[in-house]
Amino acid sequence: MPEFNAPLRDMRFVLHEVFQAPNLWARLPALAETVDADTADAILEEAAKVTGGLIAPLNRSGDEEGAQWHDGVVTTPQGFKEAYATYTEGGWVGLSGNPEYGGMGMPKMLAVAFEEMLYAAGSSFALYSALSSGACLAIDAHASEELKSTYLPPMYEGRWAGSMCLTEAHAGTDLGIIRTRAEPQADGSYKVTGSKIFITGGEQDLTENIIHLVLAKLPDAPAGPKGISLFLVPKVMVGADGSLGERNAVSCGSIEHKMGIKASATCVMNFDGATGYLIGEVNRGLAAMFTMMNYERLSIGIQGIGCAEASYQSAVAYARDRLQSRAPTGPVAKDKLADPIIVHPDVRRMLLTMKAMTEGGRAFACYVGQQLDLAKYADDTDERQNAEALVALLTPVAKAFFTDTGLESCVHGQQVFGGHGYIREWGQEQLVRDVRIAQIYEGTNGIQALDLLGRKVVANGGAALRLFAAEVRAFAHDHEATYGALLLEALERLEAVSGWLLEQAKTEPNAVGAASVEYLHLFGYVAYAYMWARMAAVAQNKQAEDEAFYGGKLATAEFFFTRLLPRTLSLEASIRAGSQPLYGLAAEQF
Ligand SMILES: Cc1cc2nc3c(=O)[nH]c(=O)nc-3n(C[C@H](O)[C@H](O)[C@H](O)COP(=O)(O)OP(=O)(O)OC[C@H]3O[C@@H](n4cnc5c(N)ncnc54)[C@H](O)[C@@H]3O)c2cc1C
Repeated sequence: MPEFNAPLRDMRFVLHEVFQAPNLWARLPALAETVDADTADAILEEAAKVTGGLIAPLNRSGDEEGAQWHDGVVTTPQGFKEAYATYTEGGWVGLSGNPEYGGMGMPKMLAVAFEEMLYAAGSSFALYSALSSGACLAIDAHASEELKSTYLPPMYEGRWAGSMCLTEAHAGTDLGIIRTRAEPQADGSYKVTGSKIFITGGEQDLTENIIHLVLAKLPDAPAGPKGISLFLVPKVMVGADGSLGERNAVSCGSIEHKMGIKASATCVMNFDGATGYLIGEVNRGLAAMFTMMNYERLSIGIQGIGCAEASYQSAVAYARDRLQSRAPTGPVAKDKLADPIIVHPDVRRMLLTMKAMTEGGRAFACYVGQQLDLAKYADDTDERQNAEALVALLTPVAKAFFTDTGLESCVHGQQVFGGHGYIREWGQEQLVRDVRIAQIYEGTNGIQALDLLGRKVVANGGAALRLFAAEVRAFAHDHEATYGALLLEALERLEAVSGWLLEQAKTEPNAVGAASVEYLHLFGYVAYAYMWARMAAVAQNKQAEDEAFYGGKLATAEFFFTRLLPRTLSLEASIRAGSQPLYGLAAEQF
């Protein structure tokens, strides 16, 4: 199993040089005191040690051993418990959490780099912490002061973990039809009854307590999504002084046996009149839960980038080493039996696709992180509102495009290894299995695409898209020499297709659903083109300082613009074919 080394130089390039994050932090009062360039670098270096030295070594054994269930008790693979204790001592769960309750208050622009390392080192391990951080965010945003001060500090410390309990056997995408019930009690608490499935980290042996955020309906709730409320349900009851008491009526009925992320416990959770506390307002639970779900959506997107980075690192090392056939231009390693496979055009195509998509994704994650930081910390109302609109628009793109292209990259990484990519030893097949789930959970990528086109573009007449497009257009005009013209052409394609879809949607009920996945991909390529144009502009200015690094960025930008961005042409053609070809068959003809 190859080592994972966090791509620190690339991460610093994105954070400091492309986005000049320290300048932004210095002008946002809430961040100015918390973080500067040196602090950020020190955190990234420490994160690289923790993820590469502590977590990555458990990834293969964790996959082979898997999480185990016996009589309601879940045991994580050997080494996880000790590693989780060391990990939480470093304060990583609360990296971007609220400092009032023990979080470190670090900006999201920095946290996304850490999350990428975490997923690259081990998706299963990462999930235990990601669910906790997301649960903290929802509690912080919507719970009462009493709940916040009782639950957040031990959660940020990592002594207690969080889980997200939405899915039921009959209700996955459509949460409006959940059956879990919450009965109000005289003391203001609720009795929660129902069964949830597929709950990540619903039970584990890493923490003293697990704080479940559960969607349920009150007896008189309206039908559908407007009747859902959110409850905090602890596994172990908590006294007024924060001490742990009796077990709550929550139990883990079983865990799933699955394709990948085998060390992450995916649990059936039974709530049998368990004591719960309302978070936010009655019947407004889905909106409150979206605070957690949006956090998790970006996080799960980053799982795609992390797995792709891990796969890329191994694939490059292998391609430099593996000797097969001679280069089409004549022998390169004349003293050897054959040339290293990195000479072959098709191997280069695969490696460059991985590199261009992973680095484009890393930059885009940082960009979305920047918008999240502005939405949270900017003083200026307009700046804050613009950032909020961009976060809403770009979150589904990040979740689905990072993970669709993350799988594509991991499959390329496996392919570079030939037959050795299919066997366990090299870790490539595990990455393919582990990254696959990221297209499915947190709302399938099909649902992300519907959210993007239906709710974030069509429903507001394209207003948020115009905001993003104005920024991209201004950059393209100012940087004609570094791919500005190609960026503009791609942006205009996205705008033209969007305009056409806005018209189609007025009269054709299937227009949005028929186009949405291709539309999200078209959007993703344009967003990455913006990122690559920004990276190329910096690299061109600095090429003389470090030819290997900045020249490499420029060569990868050239590959992206000439070999990958043209995919937008075929996406446009598919979209414009409309919904009719999807309905040429009756259901029984399939
Ligand atoms: C390993 C794992 C971990 C998970 N962790 C959690 C967790 O921690 N908490 C939690 O609550 N859930 C969790 N889930 C559940 C996950 O979020 C759901 O599986 C997912 O949202 C899809 O729901 P479903 O499986 O019911 O599929 P369905 O909703 O039945 O969808 C089936 C297919 O139909 C499509 N579809 C459905 N509706 C539409 C529509 N309106 N338009 C177009 N297409 C549609 C979907 O895109 C999908 O392709 C986890 C699942 C797994 C496998």
